[in-house]
Amino acid sequence: MKVITTIQEMQHLMNKEQQLNRTIGYVPTMGFLHEGHESLLRQSREENQVSVLSIFVNPLQFGPTEDLSTYPRDFERDSHVAEQCGVDYIFYPSVEEMYPSKSSVKVVVEDRTNVMCGKSRPGHFDGVATVLTKLFHIIMPTRAYFGMKDAQQVAVVEGLIHDFNFPITIVRGTTVREKDGLAKSSRNVYLSDEERVQAPALYKSLQAAKSAILDGERNPKTLRNLIIDMIEKETSGQIDYVEVHNYPELTETNELEGTTIIAIAVRFSKARLIDNILISREELY
Ligand code: AMP
Repeated sequence: MKVITTIQEMQHLMNKEQQLNRTIGYVPTMGFLHEGHESLLRQSREENQVSVLSIFVNPLQFGPTEDLSTYPRDFERDSHVAEQCGVDYIFYPSVEEMYPSKSSVKVVVEDRTNVMCGKSRPGHFDGVATVLTKLFHIIMPTRAYFGMKDAQQVAVVEGLIHDFNFPITIVRGTTVREKDGLAKSSRNVYLSDEERVQAPALYKSLQAAKSAILDGERNPKTLRNLIIDMIEKETSGQIDYVEVHNYPELTETNELEGTTIIAIAVRFSKARLIDNILISREELY
């Protein structure tokens, strides 16, 4: 496994892999790897001849009051995990390497961002789309792997790939959870002991909504209220949003009909947690 820190060397190596006609699987991350990342890395390893991980905490996607400076980092441990997952190359650039001067161009996402995290984190997805445009040009992967825990990110990236004609297949990875249902996240380390006990209520409330749907409930308002009641009763967190939309378009739905996402974000004292479930068309009918 090689660790590469410069864009020039990474592009050179990836060019060589392409000339050898090798398929390249790519998992972009911000590091502090957990089993959610690992499952994407293992899938990338299985489905491609070359597997690439990037670790880059991208300042462009953090708001001024967000956790950029305190975002957890542990490169030594991450490189050990990457090795276990069969990664061939870790791309690990510095902020100066990625943004040596003020950029003159940025990517602005027009669709799928006026709801959920796009609404509560203005500019976040522009930052994600901008850094991914750079990373896709540097790595030139055949397939790129994204976790459905960040379902809005997947929707935005699928839009980016389509609109900018990147010759890349996006693979959606299933959300990996703790035994009690809490979605694995690098930010879970910010939870206090008490909050950690409460946090599984997020997934529990999503499952309760899904049960209601399977029992015939189709009204998004009723589903929202059910989730809000449960989170308010079982946690000390502040609800940021509970939303029900068509997926991946992320348009509003008044009566559930096609593939639907139910997504929530809850602020605890030091961590903002997100989670979601998808309800397929088949489950609705
Ligand atoms: P991050 O390091 O938080 O930017 O995440 C890197 C990638 O890992 C993204 O595609 C995330 O959606 C994915 N990911 C994060 N948590 C999970 C999880 N619990 N299960 C599956 N994928 C995840």
